Amino acid sequence: MPVINNPPPFRPSSPDHLQMSLAAAMTLKLKEGLFYRQARLYCLNLLLTYPDGCRGNCSYCGLQKSRDGSFTEKSFIRVSWPTYDLETIIQKTLENRHRLHRICLSMITHPRALEDTLMLIRRFREEVGLPISVLMNPTSMQTADVAALKQAGAQMAAVALDLADEALFDRHRGAGTGGPHRFDHYWALLTATAEVFGKNKAGCHLICGLGEREEDLVQRIQAVRDLGARTHLFSFYPEKGSRLAEAPACPEGQFRRVQLARFLIDNDLSHSRVMAFDPEGRIRDFGLPPEDLEQWIASGRPFMTSGCPGGGMEAACNRPFGDGPPSAIRSFPFQPEEEDLDRIKEQLGWGAP
Ligand code: SF4
Repeated sequence: MPVINNPPPFRPSSPDHLQMSLAAAMTLKLKEGLFYRQARLYCLNLLLTYPDGCRGNCSYCGLQKSRDGSFTEKSFIRVSWPTYDLETIIQKTLENRHRLHRICLSMITHPRALEDTLMLIRRFREEVGLPISVLMNPTSMQTADVAALKQAGAQMAAVALDLADEALFDRHRGAGTGGPHRFDHYWALLTATAEVFGKNKAGCHLICGLGEREEDLVQRIQAVRDLGARTHLFSFYPEKGSRLAEAPACPEGQFRRVQLARFLIDNDLSHSRVMAFDPEGRIRDFGLPPEDLEQWIASGRPFMTSGCPGGGMEAACNRPFGDGPPSAIRSFPFQPEEEDLDRIKEQLGWGAP
């Protein structure tokens, strides 16, 4: 009997293939659907993909290597990330360019990630021409590589530090999980990014609600600002299939207070040293006269998604419902309305005696 060998299944890989957020696929009309309250996305969020997956093992992430399942089926920040070939993505981006203000390339922890990212930056810059951000993976990079990203044409770059301090970082991403990431290297890369890209062109992703005190996260946000960078803040929401799948989401009040502090710090309206905290580390004074604070709260801006700007928006990268369900919006992908603001004030305890 002849032995029939079935061909191995096709396994898409970057740089010829990329994953994209569901919102991005909808924006490019590769998927049908509308977002709740007509939210729209203005940044094409793309993710490198490899058959052998990400080498990281972060406790809160749906891509962690210890999780069962094929890499491309794993979800990431709450939504599925379908995979498309690069030529289709470029073609569809050109067709829908008027809807977009930015492209973001997210690296994962893989030995080929840097080389492929450099090639992808060049192609998107030459063929599409939108501003490009790179969400770097420091573990796959040296600090000297940051300049190569800029030379290739990236306009902004960010580091997903995610945790407020080294101990929490080790617990969720480093030695505590058997993962390869090291806090010092992440911080060194963020510092280099702020130097190479310049003021307000470097970003730091931080997640609120992973066991830190508000005060510790505020101090980290200030340290990021002191580098000339800005924080892109996320509310922790348990990712299906991750090791923290059963952990509680970040309490609303905690996130609202940290969102407000981040906005004030990143816009140089306040400073952590003039803020005050209670014995449990909760923010109890934002360092601003109450009438000024009231105005900023009423503007709704502090509660909108923080991310890379574009098209005159503070965050073209508004990741609709990326850190909470539509029924309990954490980062607003649009201007909050009157009813939203009433709820936000309740969550903040604003106006309470
Ligand atoms: S904020 Fe958005 S565009 Fe900027 S690096 Fe993060 S994911 Fe990318």
